[in-house]
Amino acid sequence: MSNTADIIIIGAGVQGASLAFHLAERGVKALVLEKKFIGAGATGRSSGMVRMHYDVRQDSELAWVSFDYFKNWADIVGGESGFTRTGFIQIVAREHEDALRINTAMNQDIGIPTFLISADDVTRLVPFFLTDDFDLAAYEPESGYADPSATTASLMTAAKDKGARIVQDCSVTGIIEESGKVKGVNTSQGAFFAPVIVNAAGPWADKVNAMVGLDYPLTTWRHDTAFVGVTKEMGHHFPGVIDFPNEMYFRPETGGLMLIGLEDGNPLGDSPDGDTDHAIKGFVERAIDRICQRIPSMESSYLHTAHGGYDGITPDQHPLLGPAGPEGFYLQCGMSGTGFKIAPAIGLCMSELILDGESKSVDISVYRPQRFEEGDEIKGNYVSVWH
Ligand SMILES: Cc1cc2nc3c(=O)[nH]c(=O)nc-3n(C[C@H](O)[C@H](O)[C@H](O)COP(=O)(O)OP(=O)(O)OC[C@H]3O[C@@H](n4cnc5c(N)ncnc54)[C@H](O)[C@@H]3O)c2cc1C
Repeated sequence: MSNTADIIIIGAGVQGASLAFHLAERGVKALVLEKKFIGAGATGRSSGMVRMHYDVRQDSELAWVSFDYFKNWADIVGGESGFTRTGFIQIVAREHEDALRINTAMNQDIGIPTFLISADDVTRLVPFFLTDDFDLAAYEPESGYADPSATTASLMTAAKDKGARIVQDCSVTGIIEESGKVKGVNTSQGAFFAPVIVNAAGPWADKVNAMVGLDYPLTTWRHDTAFVGVTKEMGHHFPGVIDFPNEMYFRPETGGLMLIGLEDGNPLGDSPDGDTDHAIKGFVERAIDRICQRIPSMESSYLHTAHGGYDGITPDQHPLLGPAGPEGFYLQCGMSGTGFKIAPAIGLCMSELILDGESKSVDISVYRPQRFEEGDEIKGNYVSVWH
């Protein structure tokens, strides 16, 4: 195999695969270098929630552009994303109702099918929910979840069909620079050369940044998920939910299960190479307690499995997207626990930024890595409750 390419992408998670796919669509053949295997990092552990409700306009725009892919995956990408429509409900405490109204109006302005519903409406949709702690929710009837591993594999397959290459079991150990420009990378399988290098290394991205002397505020976020049996009463037809009052989200999972994640107690700064086969101590008990707050009948449920994962996270919990450091070096990392559902659009926008100098599909300049030193961090409407 030739050791030169137009563009080298470090990491074959959903972000690297999406960029490789969109570059291939434009006739640019990327070389993806992956230290383990496709989807080995955050992507393989992702809960796969696909919804559009955000409190920053560009986030919702990225999710909306991406949603078109999930709905029409076979036509746009080919293969499977596993998208399953369940509907999605965003529940907020009474103190966050104003923000919910603003965000839902902003989402509607983008064109997203979403509307406000009352707690009584939620009871009509899901009679087994307790709804006495909130009055208002946002409902997205078309949203759901997808399979992150299948999504990533099909993006990579489609990219390869159009000339991209991937080398797995290939760890990037250093970046080769000359006169302030990137030239290539040293890896566990020798050197590879390209004038453009993209850091899509997920929770390991700060280590790759350090290879070119960059020190952006980027750390790791540990997140566990539990899979529990659903009760007969619930069946398998219930929506995905983000439940702010209980700092929790949940959705149906195949095999008669429900996936539960918690927004609190997710350690920051741990090694991304930690144990992901088991959830951290106490997580399962907290998850079960929490789900019973919303669905009392889950008292009679059972634990199927629980495990963990790591993502990269920034102080404003938004990605780092764009050029940084030596000429030809780009960041596509720091996804902050929410980078699956927006990956199709981010790959598209990054391909536009790299090839055309700006991204037109969604203006991603708000995510420029330099925003922290410029004092221009991203702020949403839900102060402190969003991850
Ligand atoms: C448990 C969990 C649940 C989540 N749930 C959701 C959700 O419901 N919805 C949502 O939108 N988002 C969710 N997220 C976030 C989302 O999954 C991530 O933001 C997204 O998968 C990140 O993709 P990535 O490609 O940036 O990183 P990764 O998938 O981590 O990919 C990075 C890749 O780079 C490789 N790599 C690292 N260093 C090197 C190196 N030096 N050389 C070569 N390769 C290297 C790694 O092996 C890895 O495969 C969740 C995340 C977690 C952890």
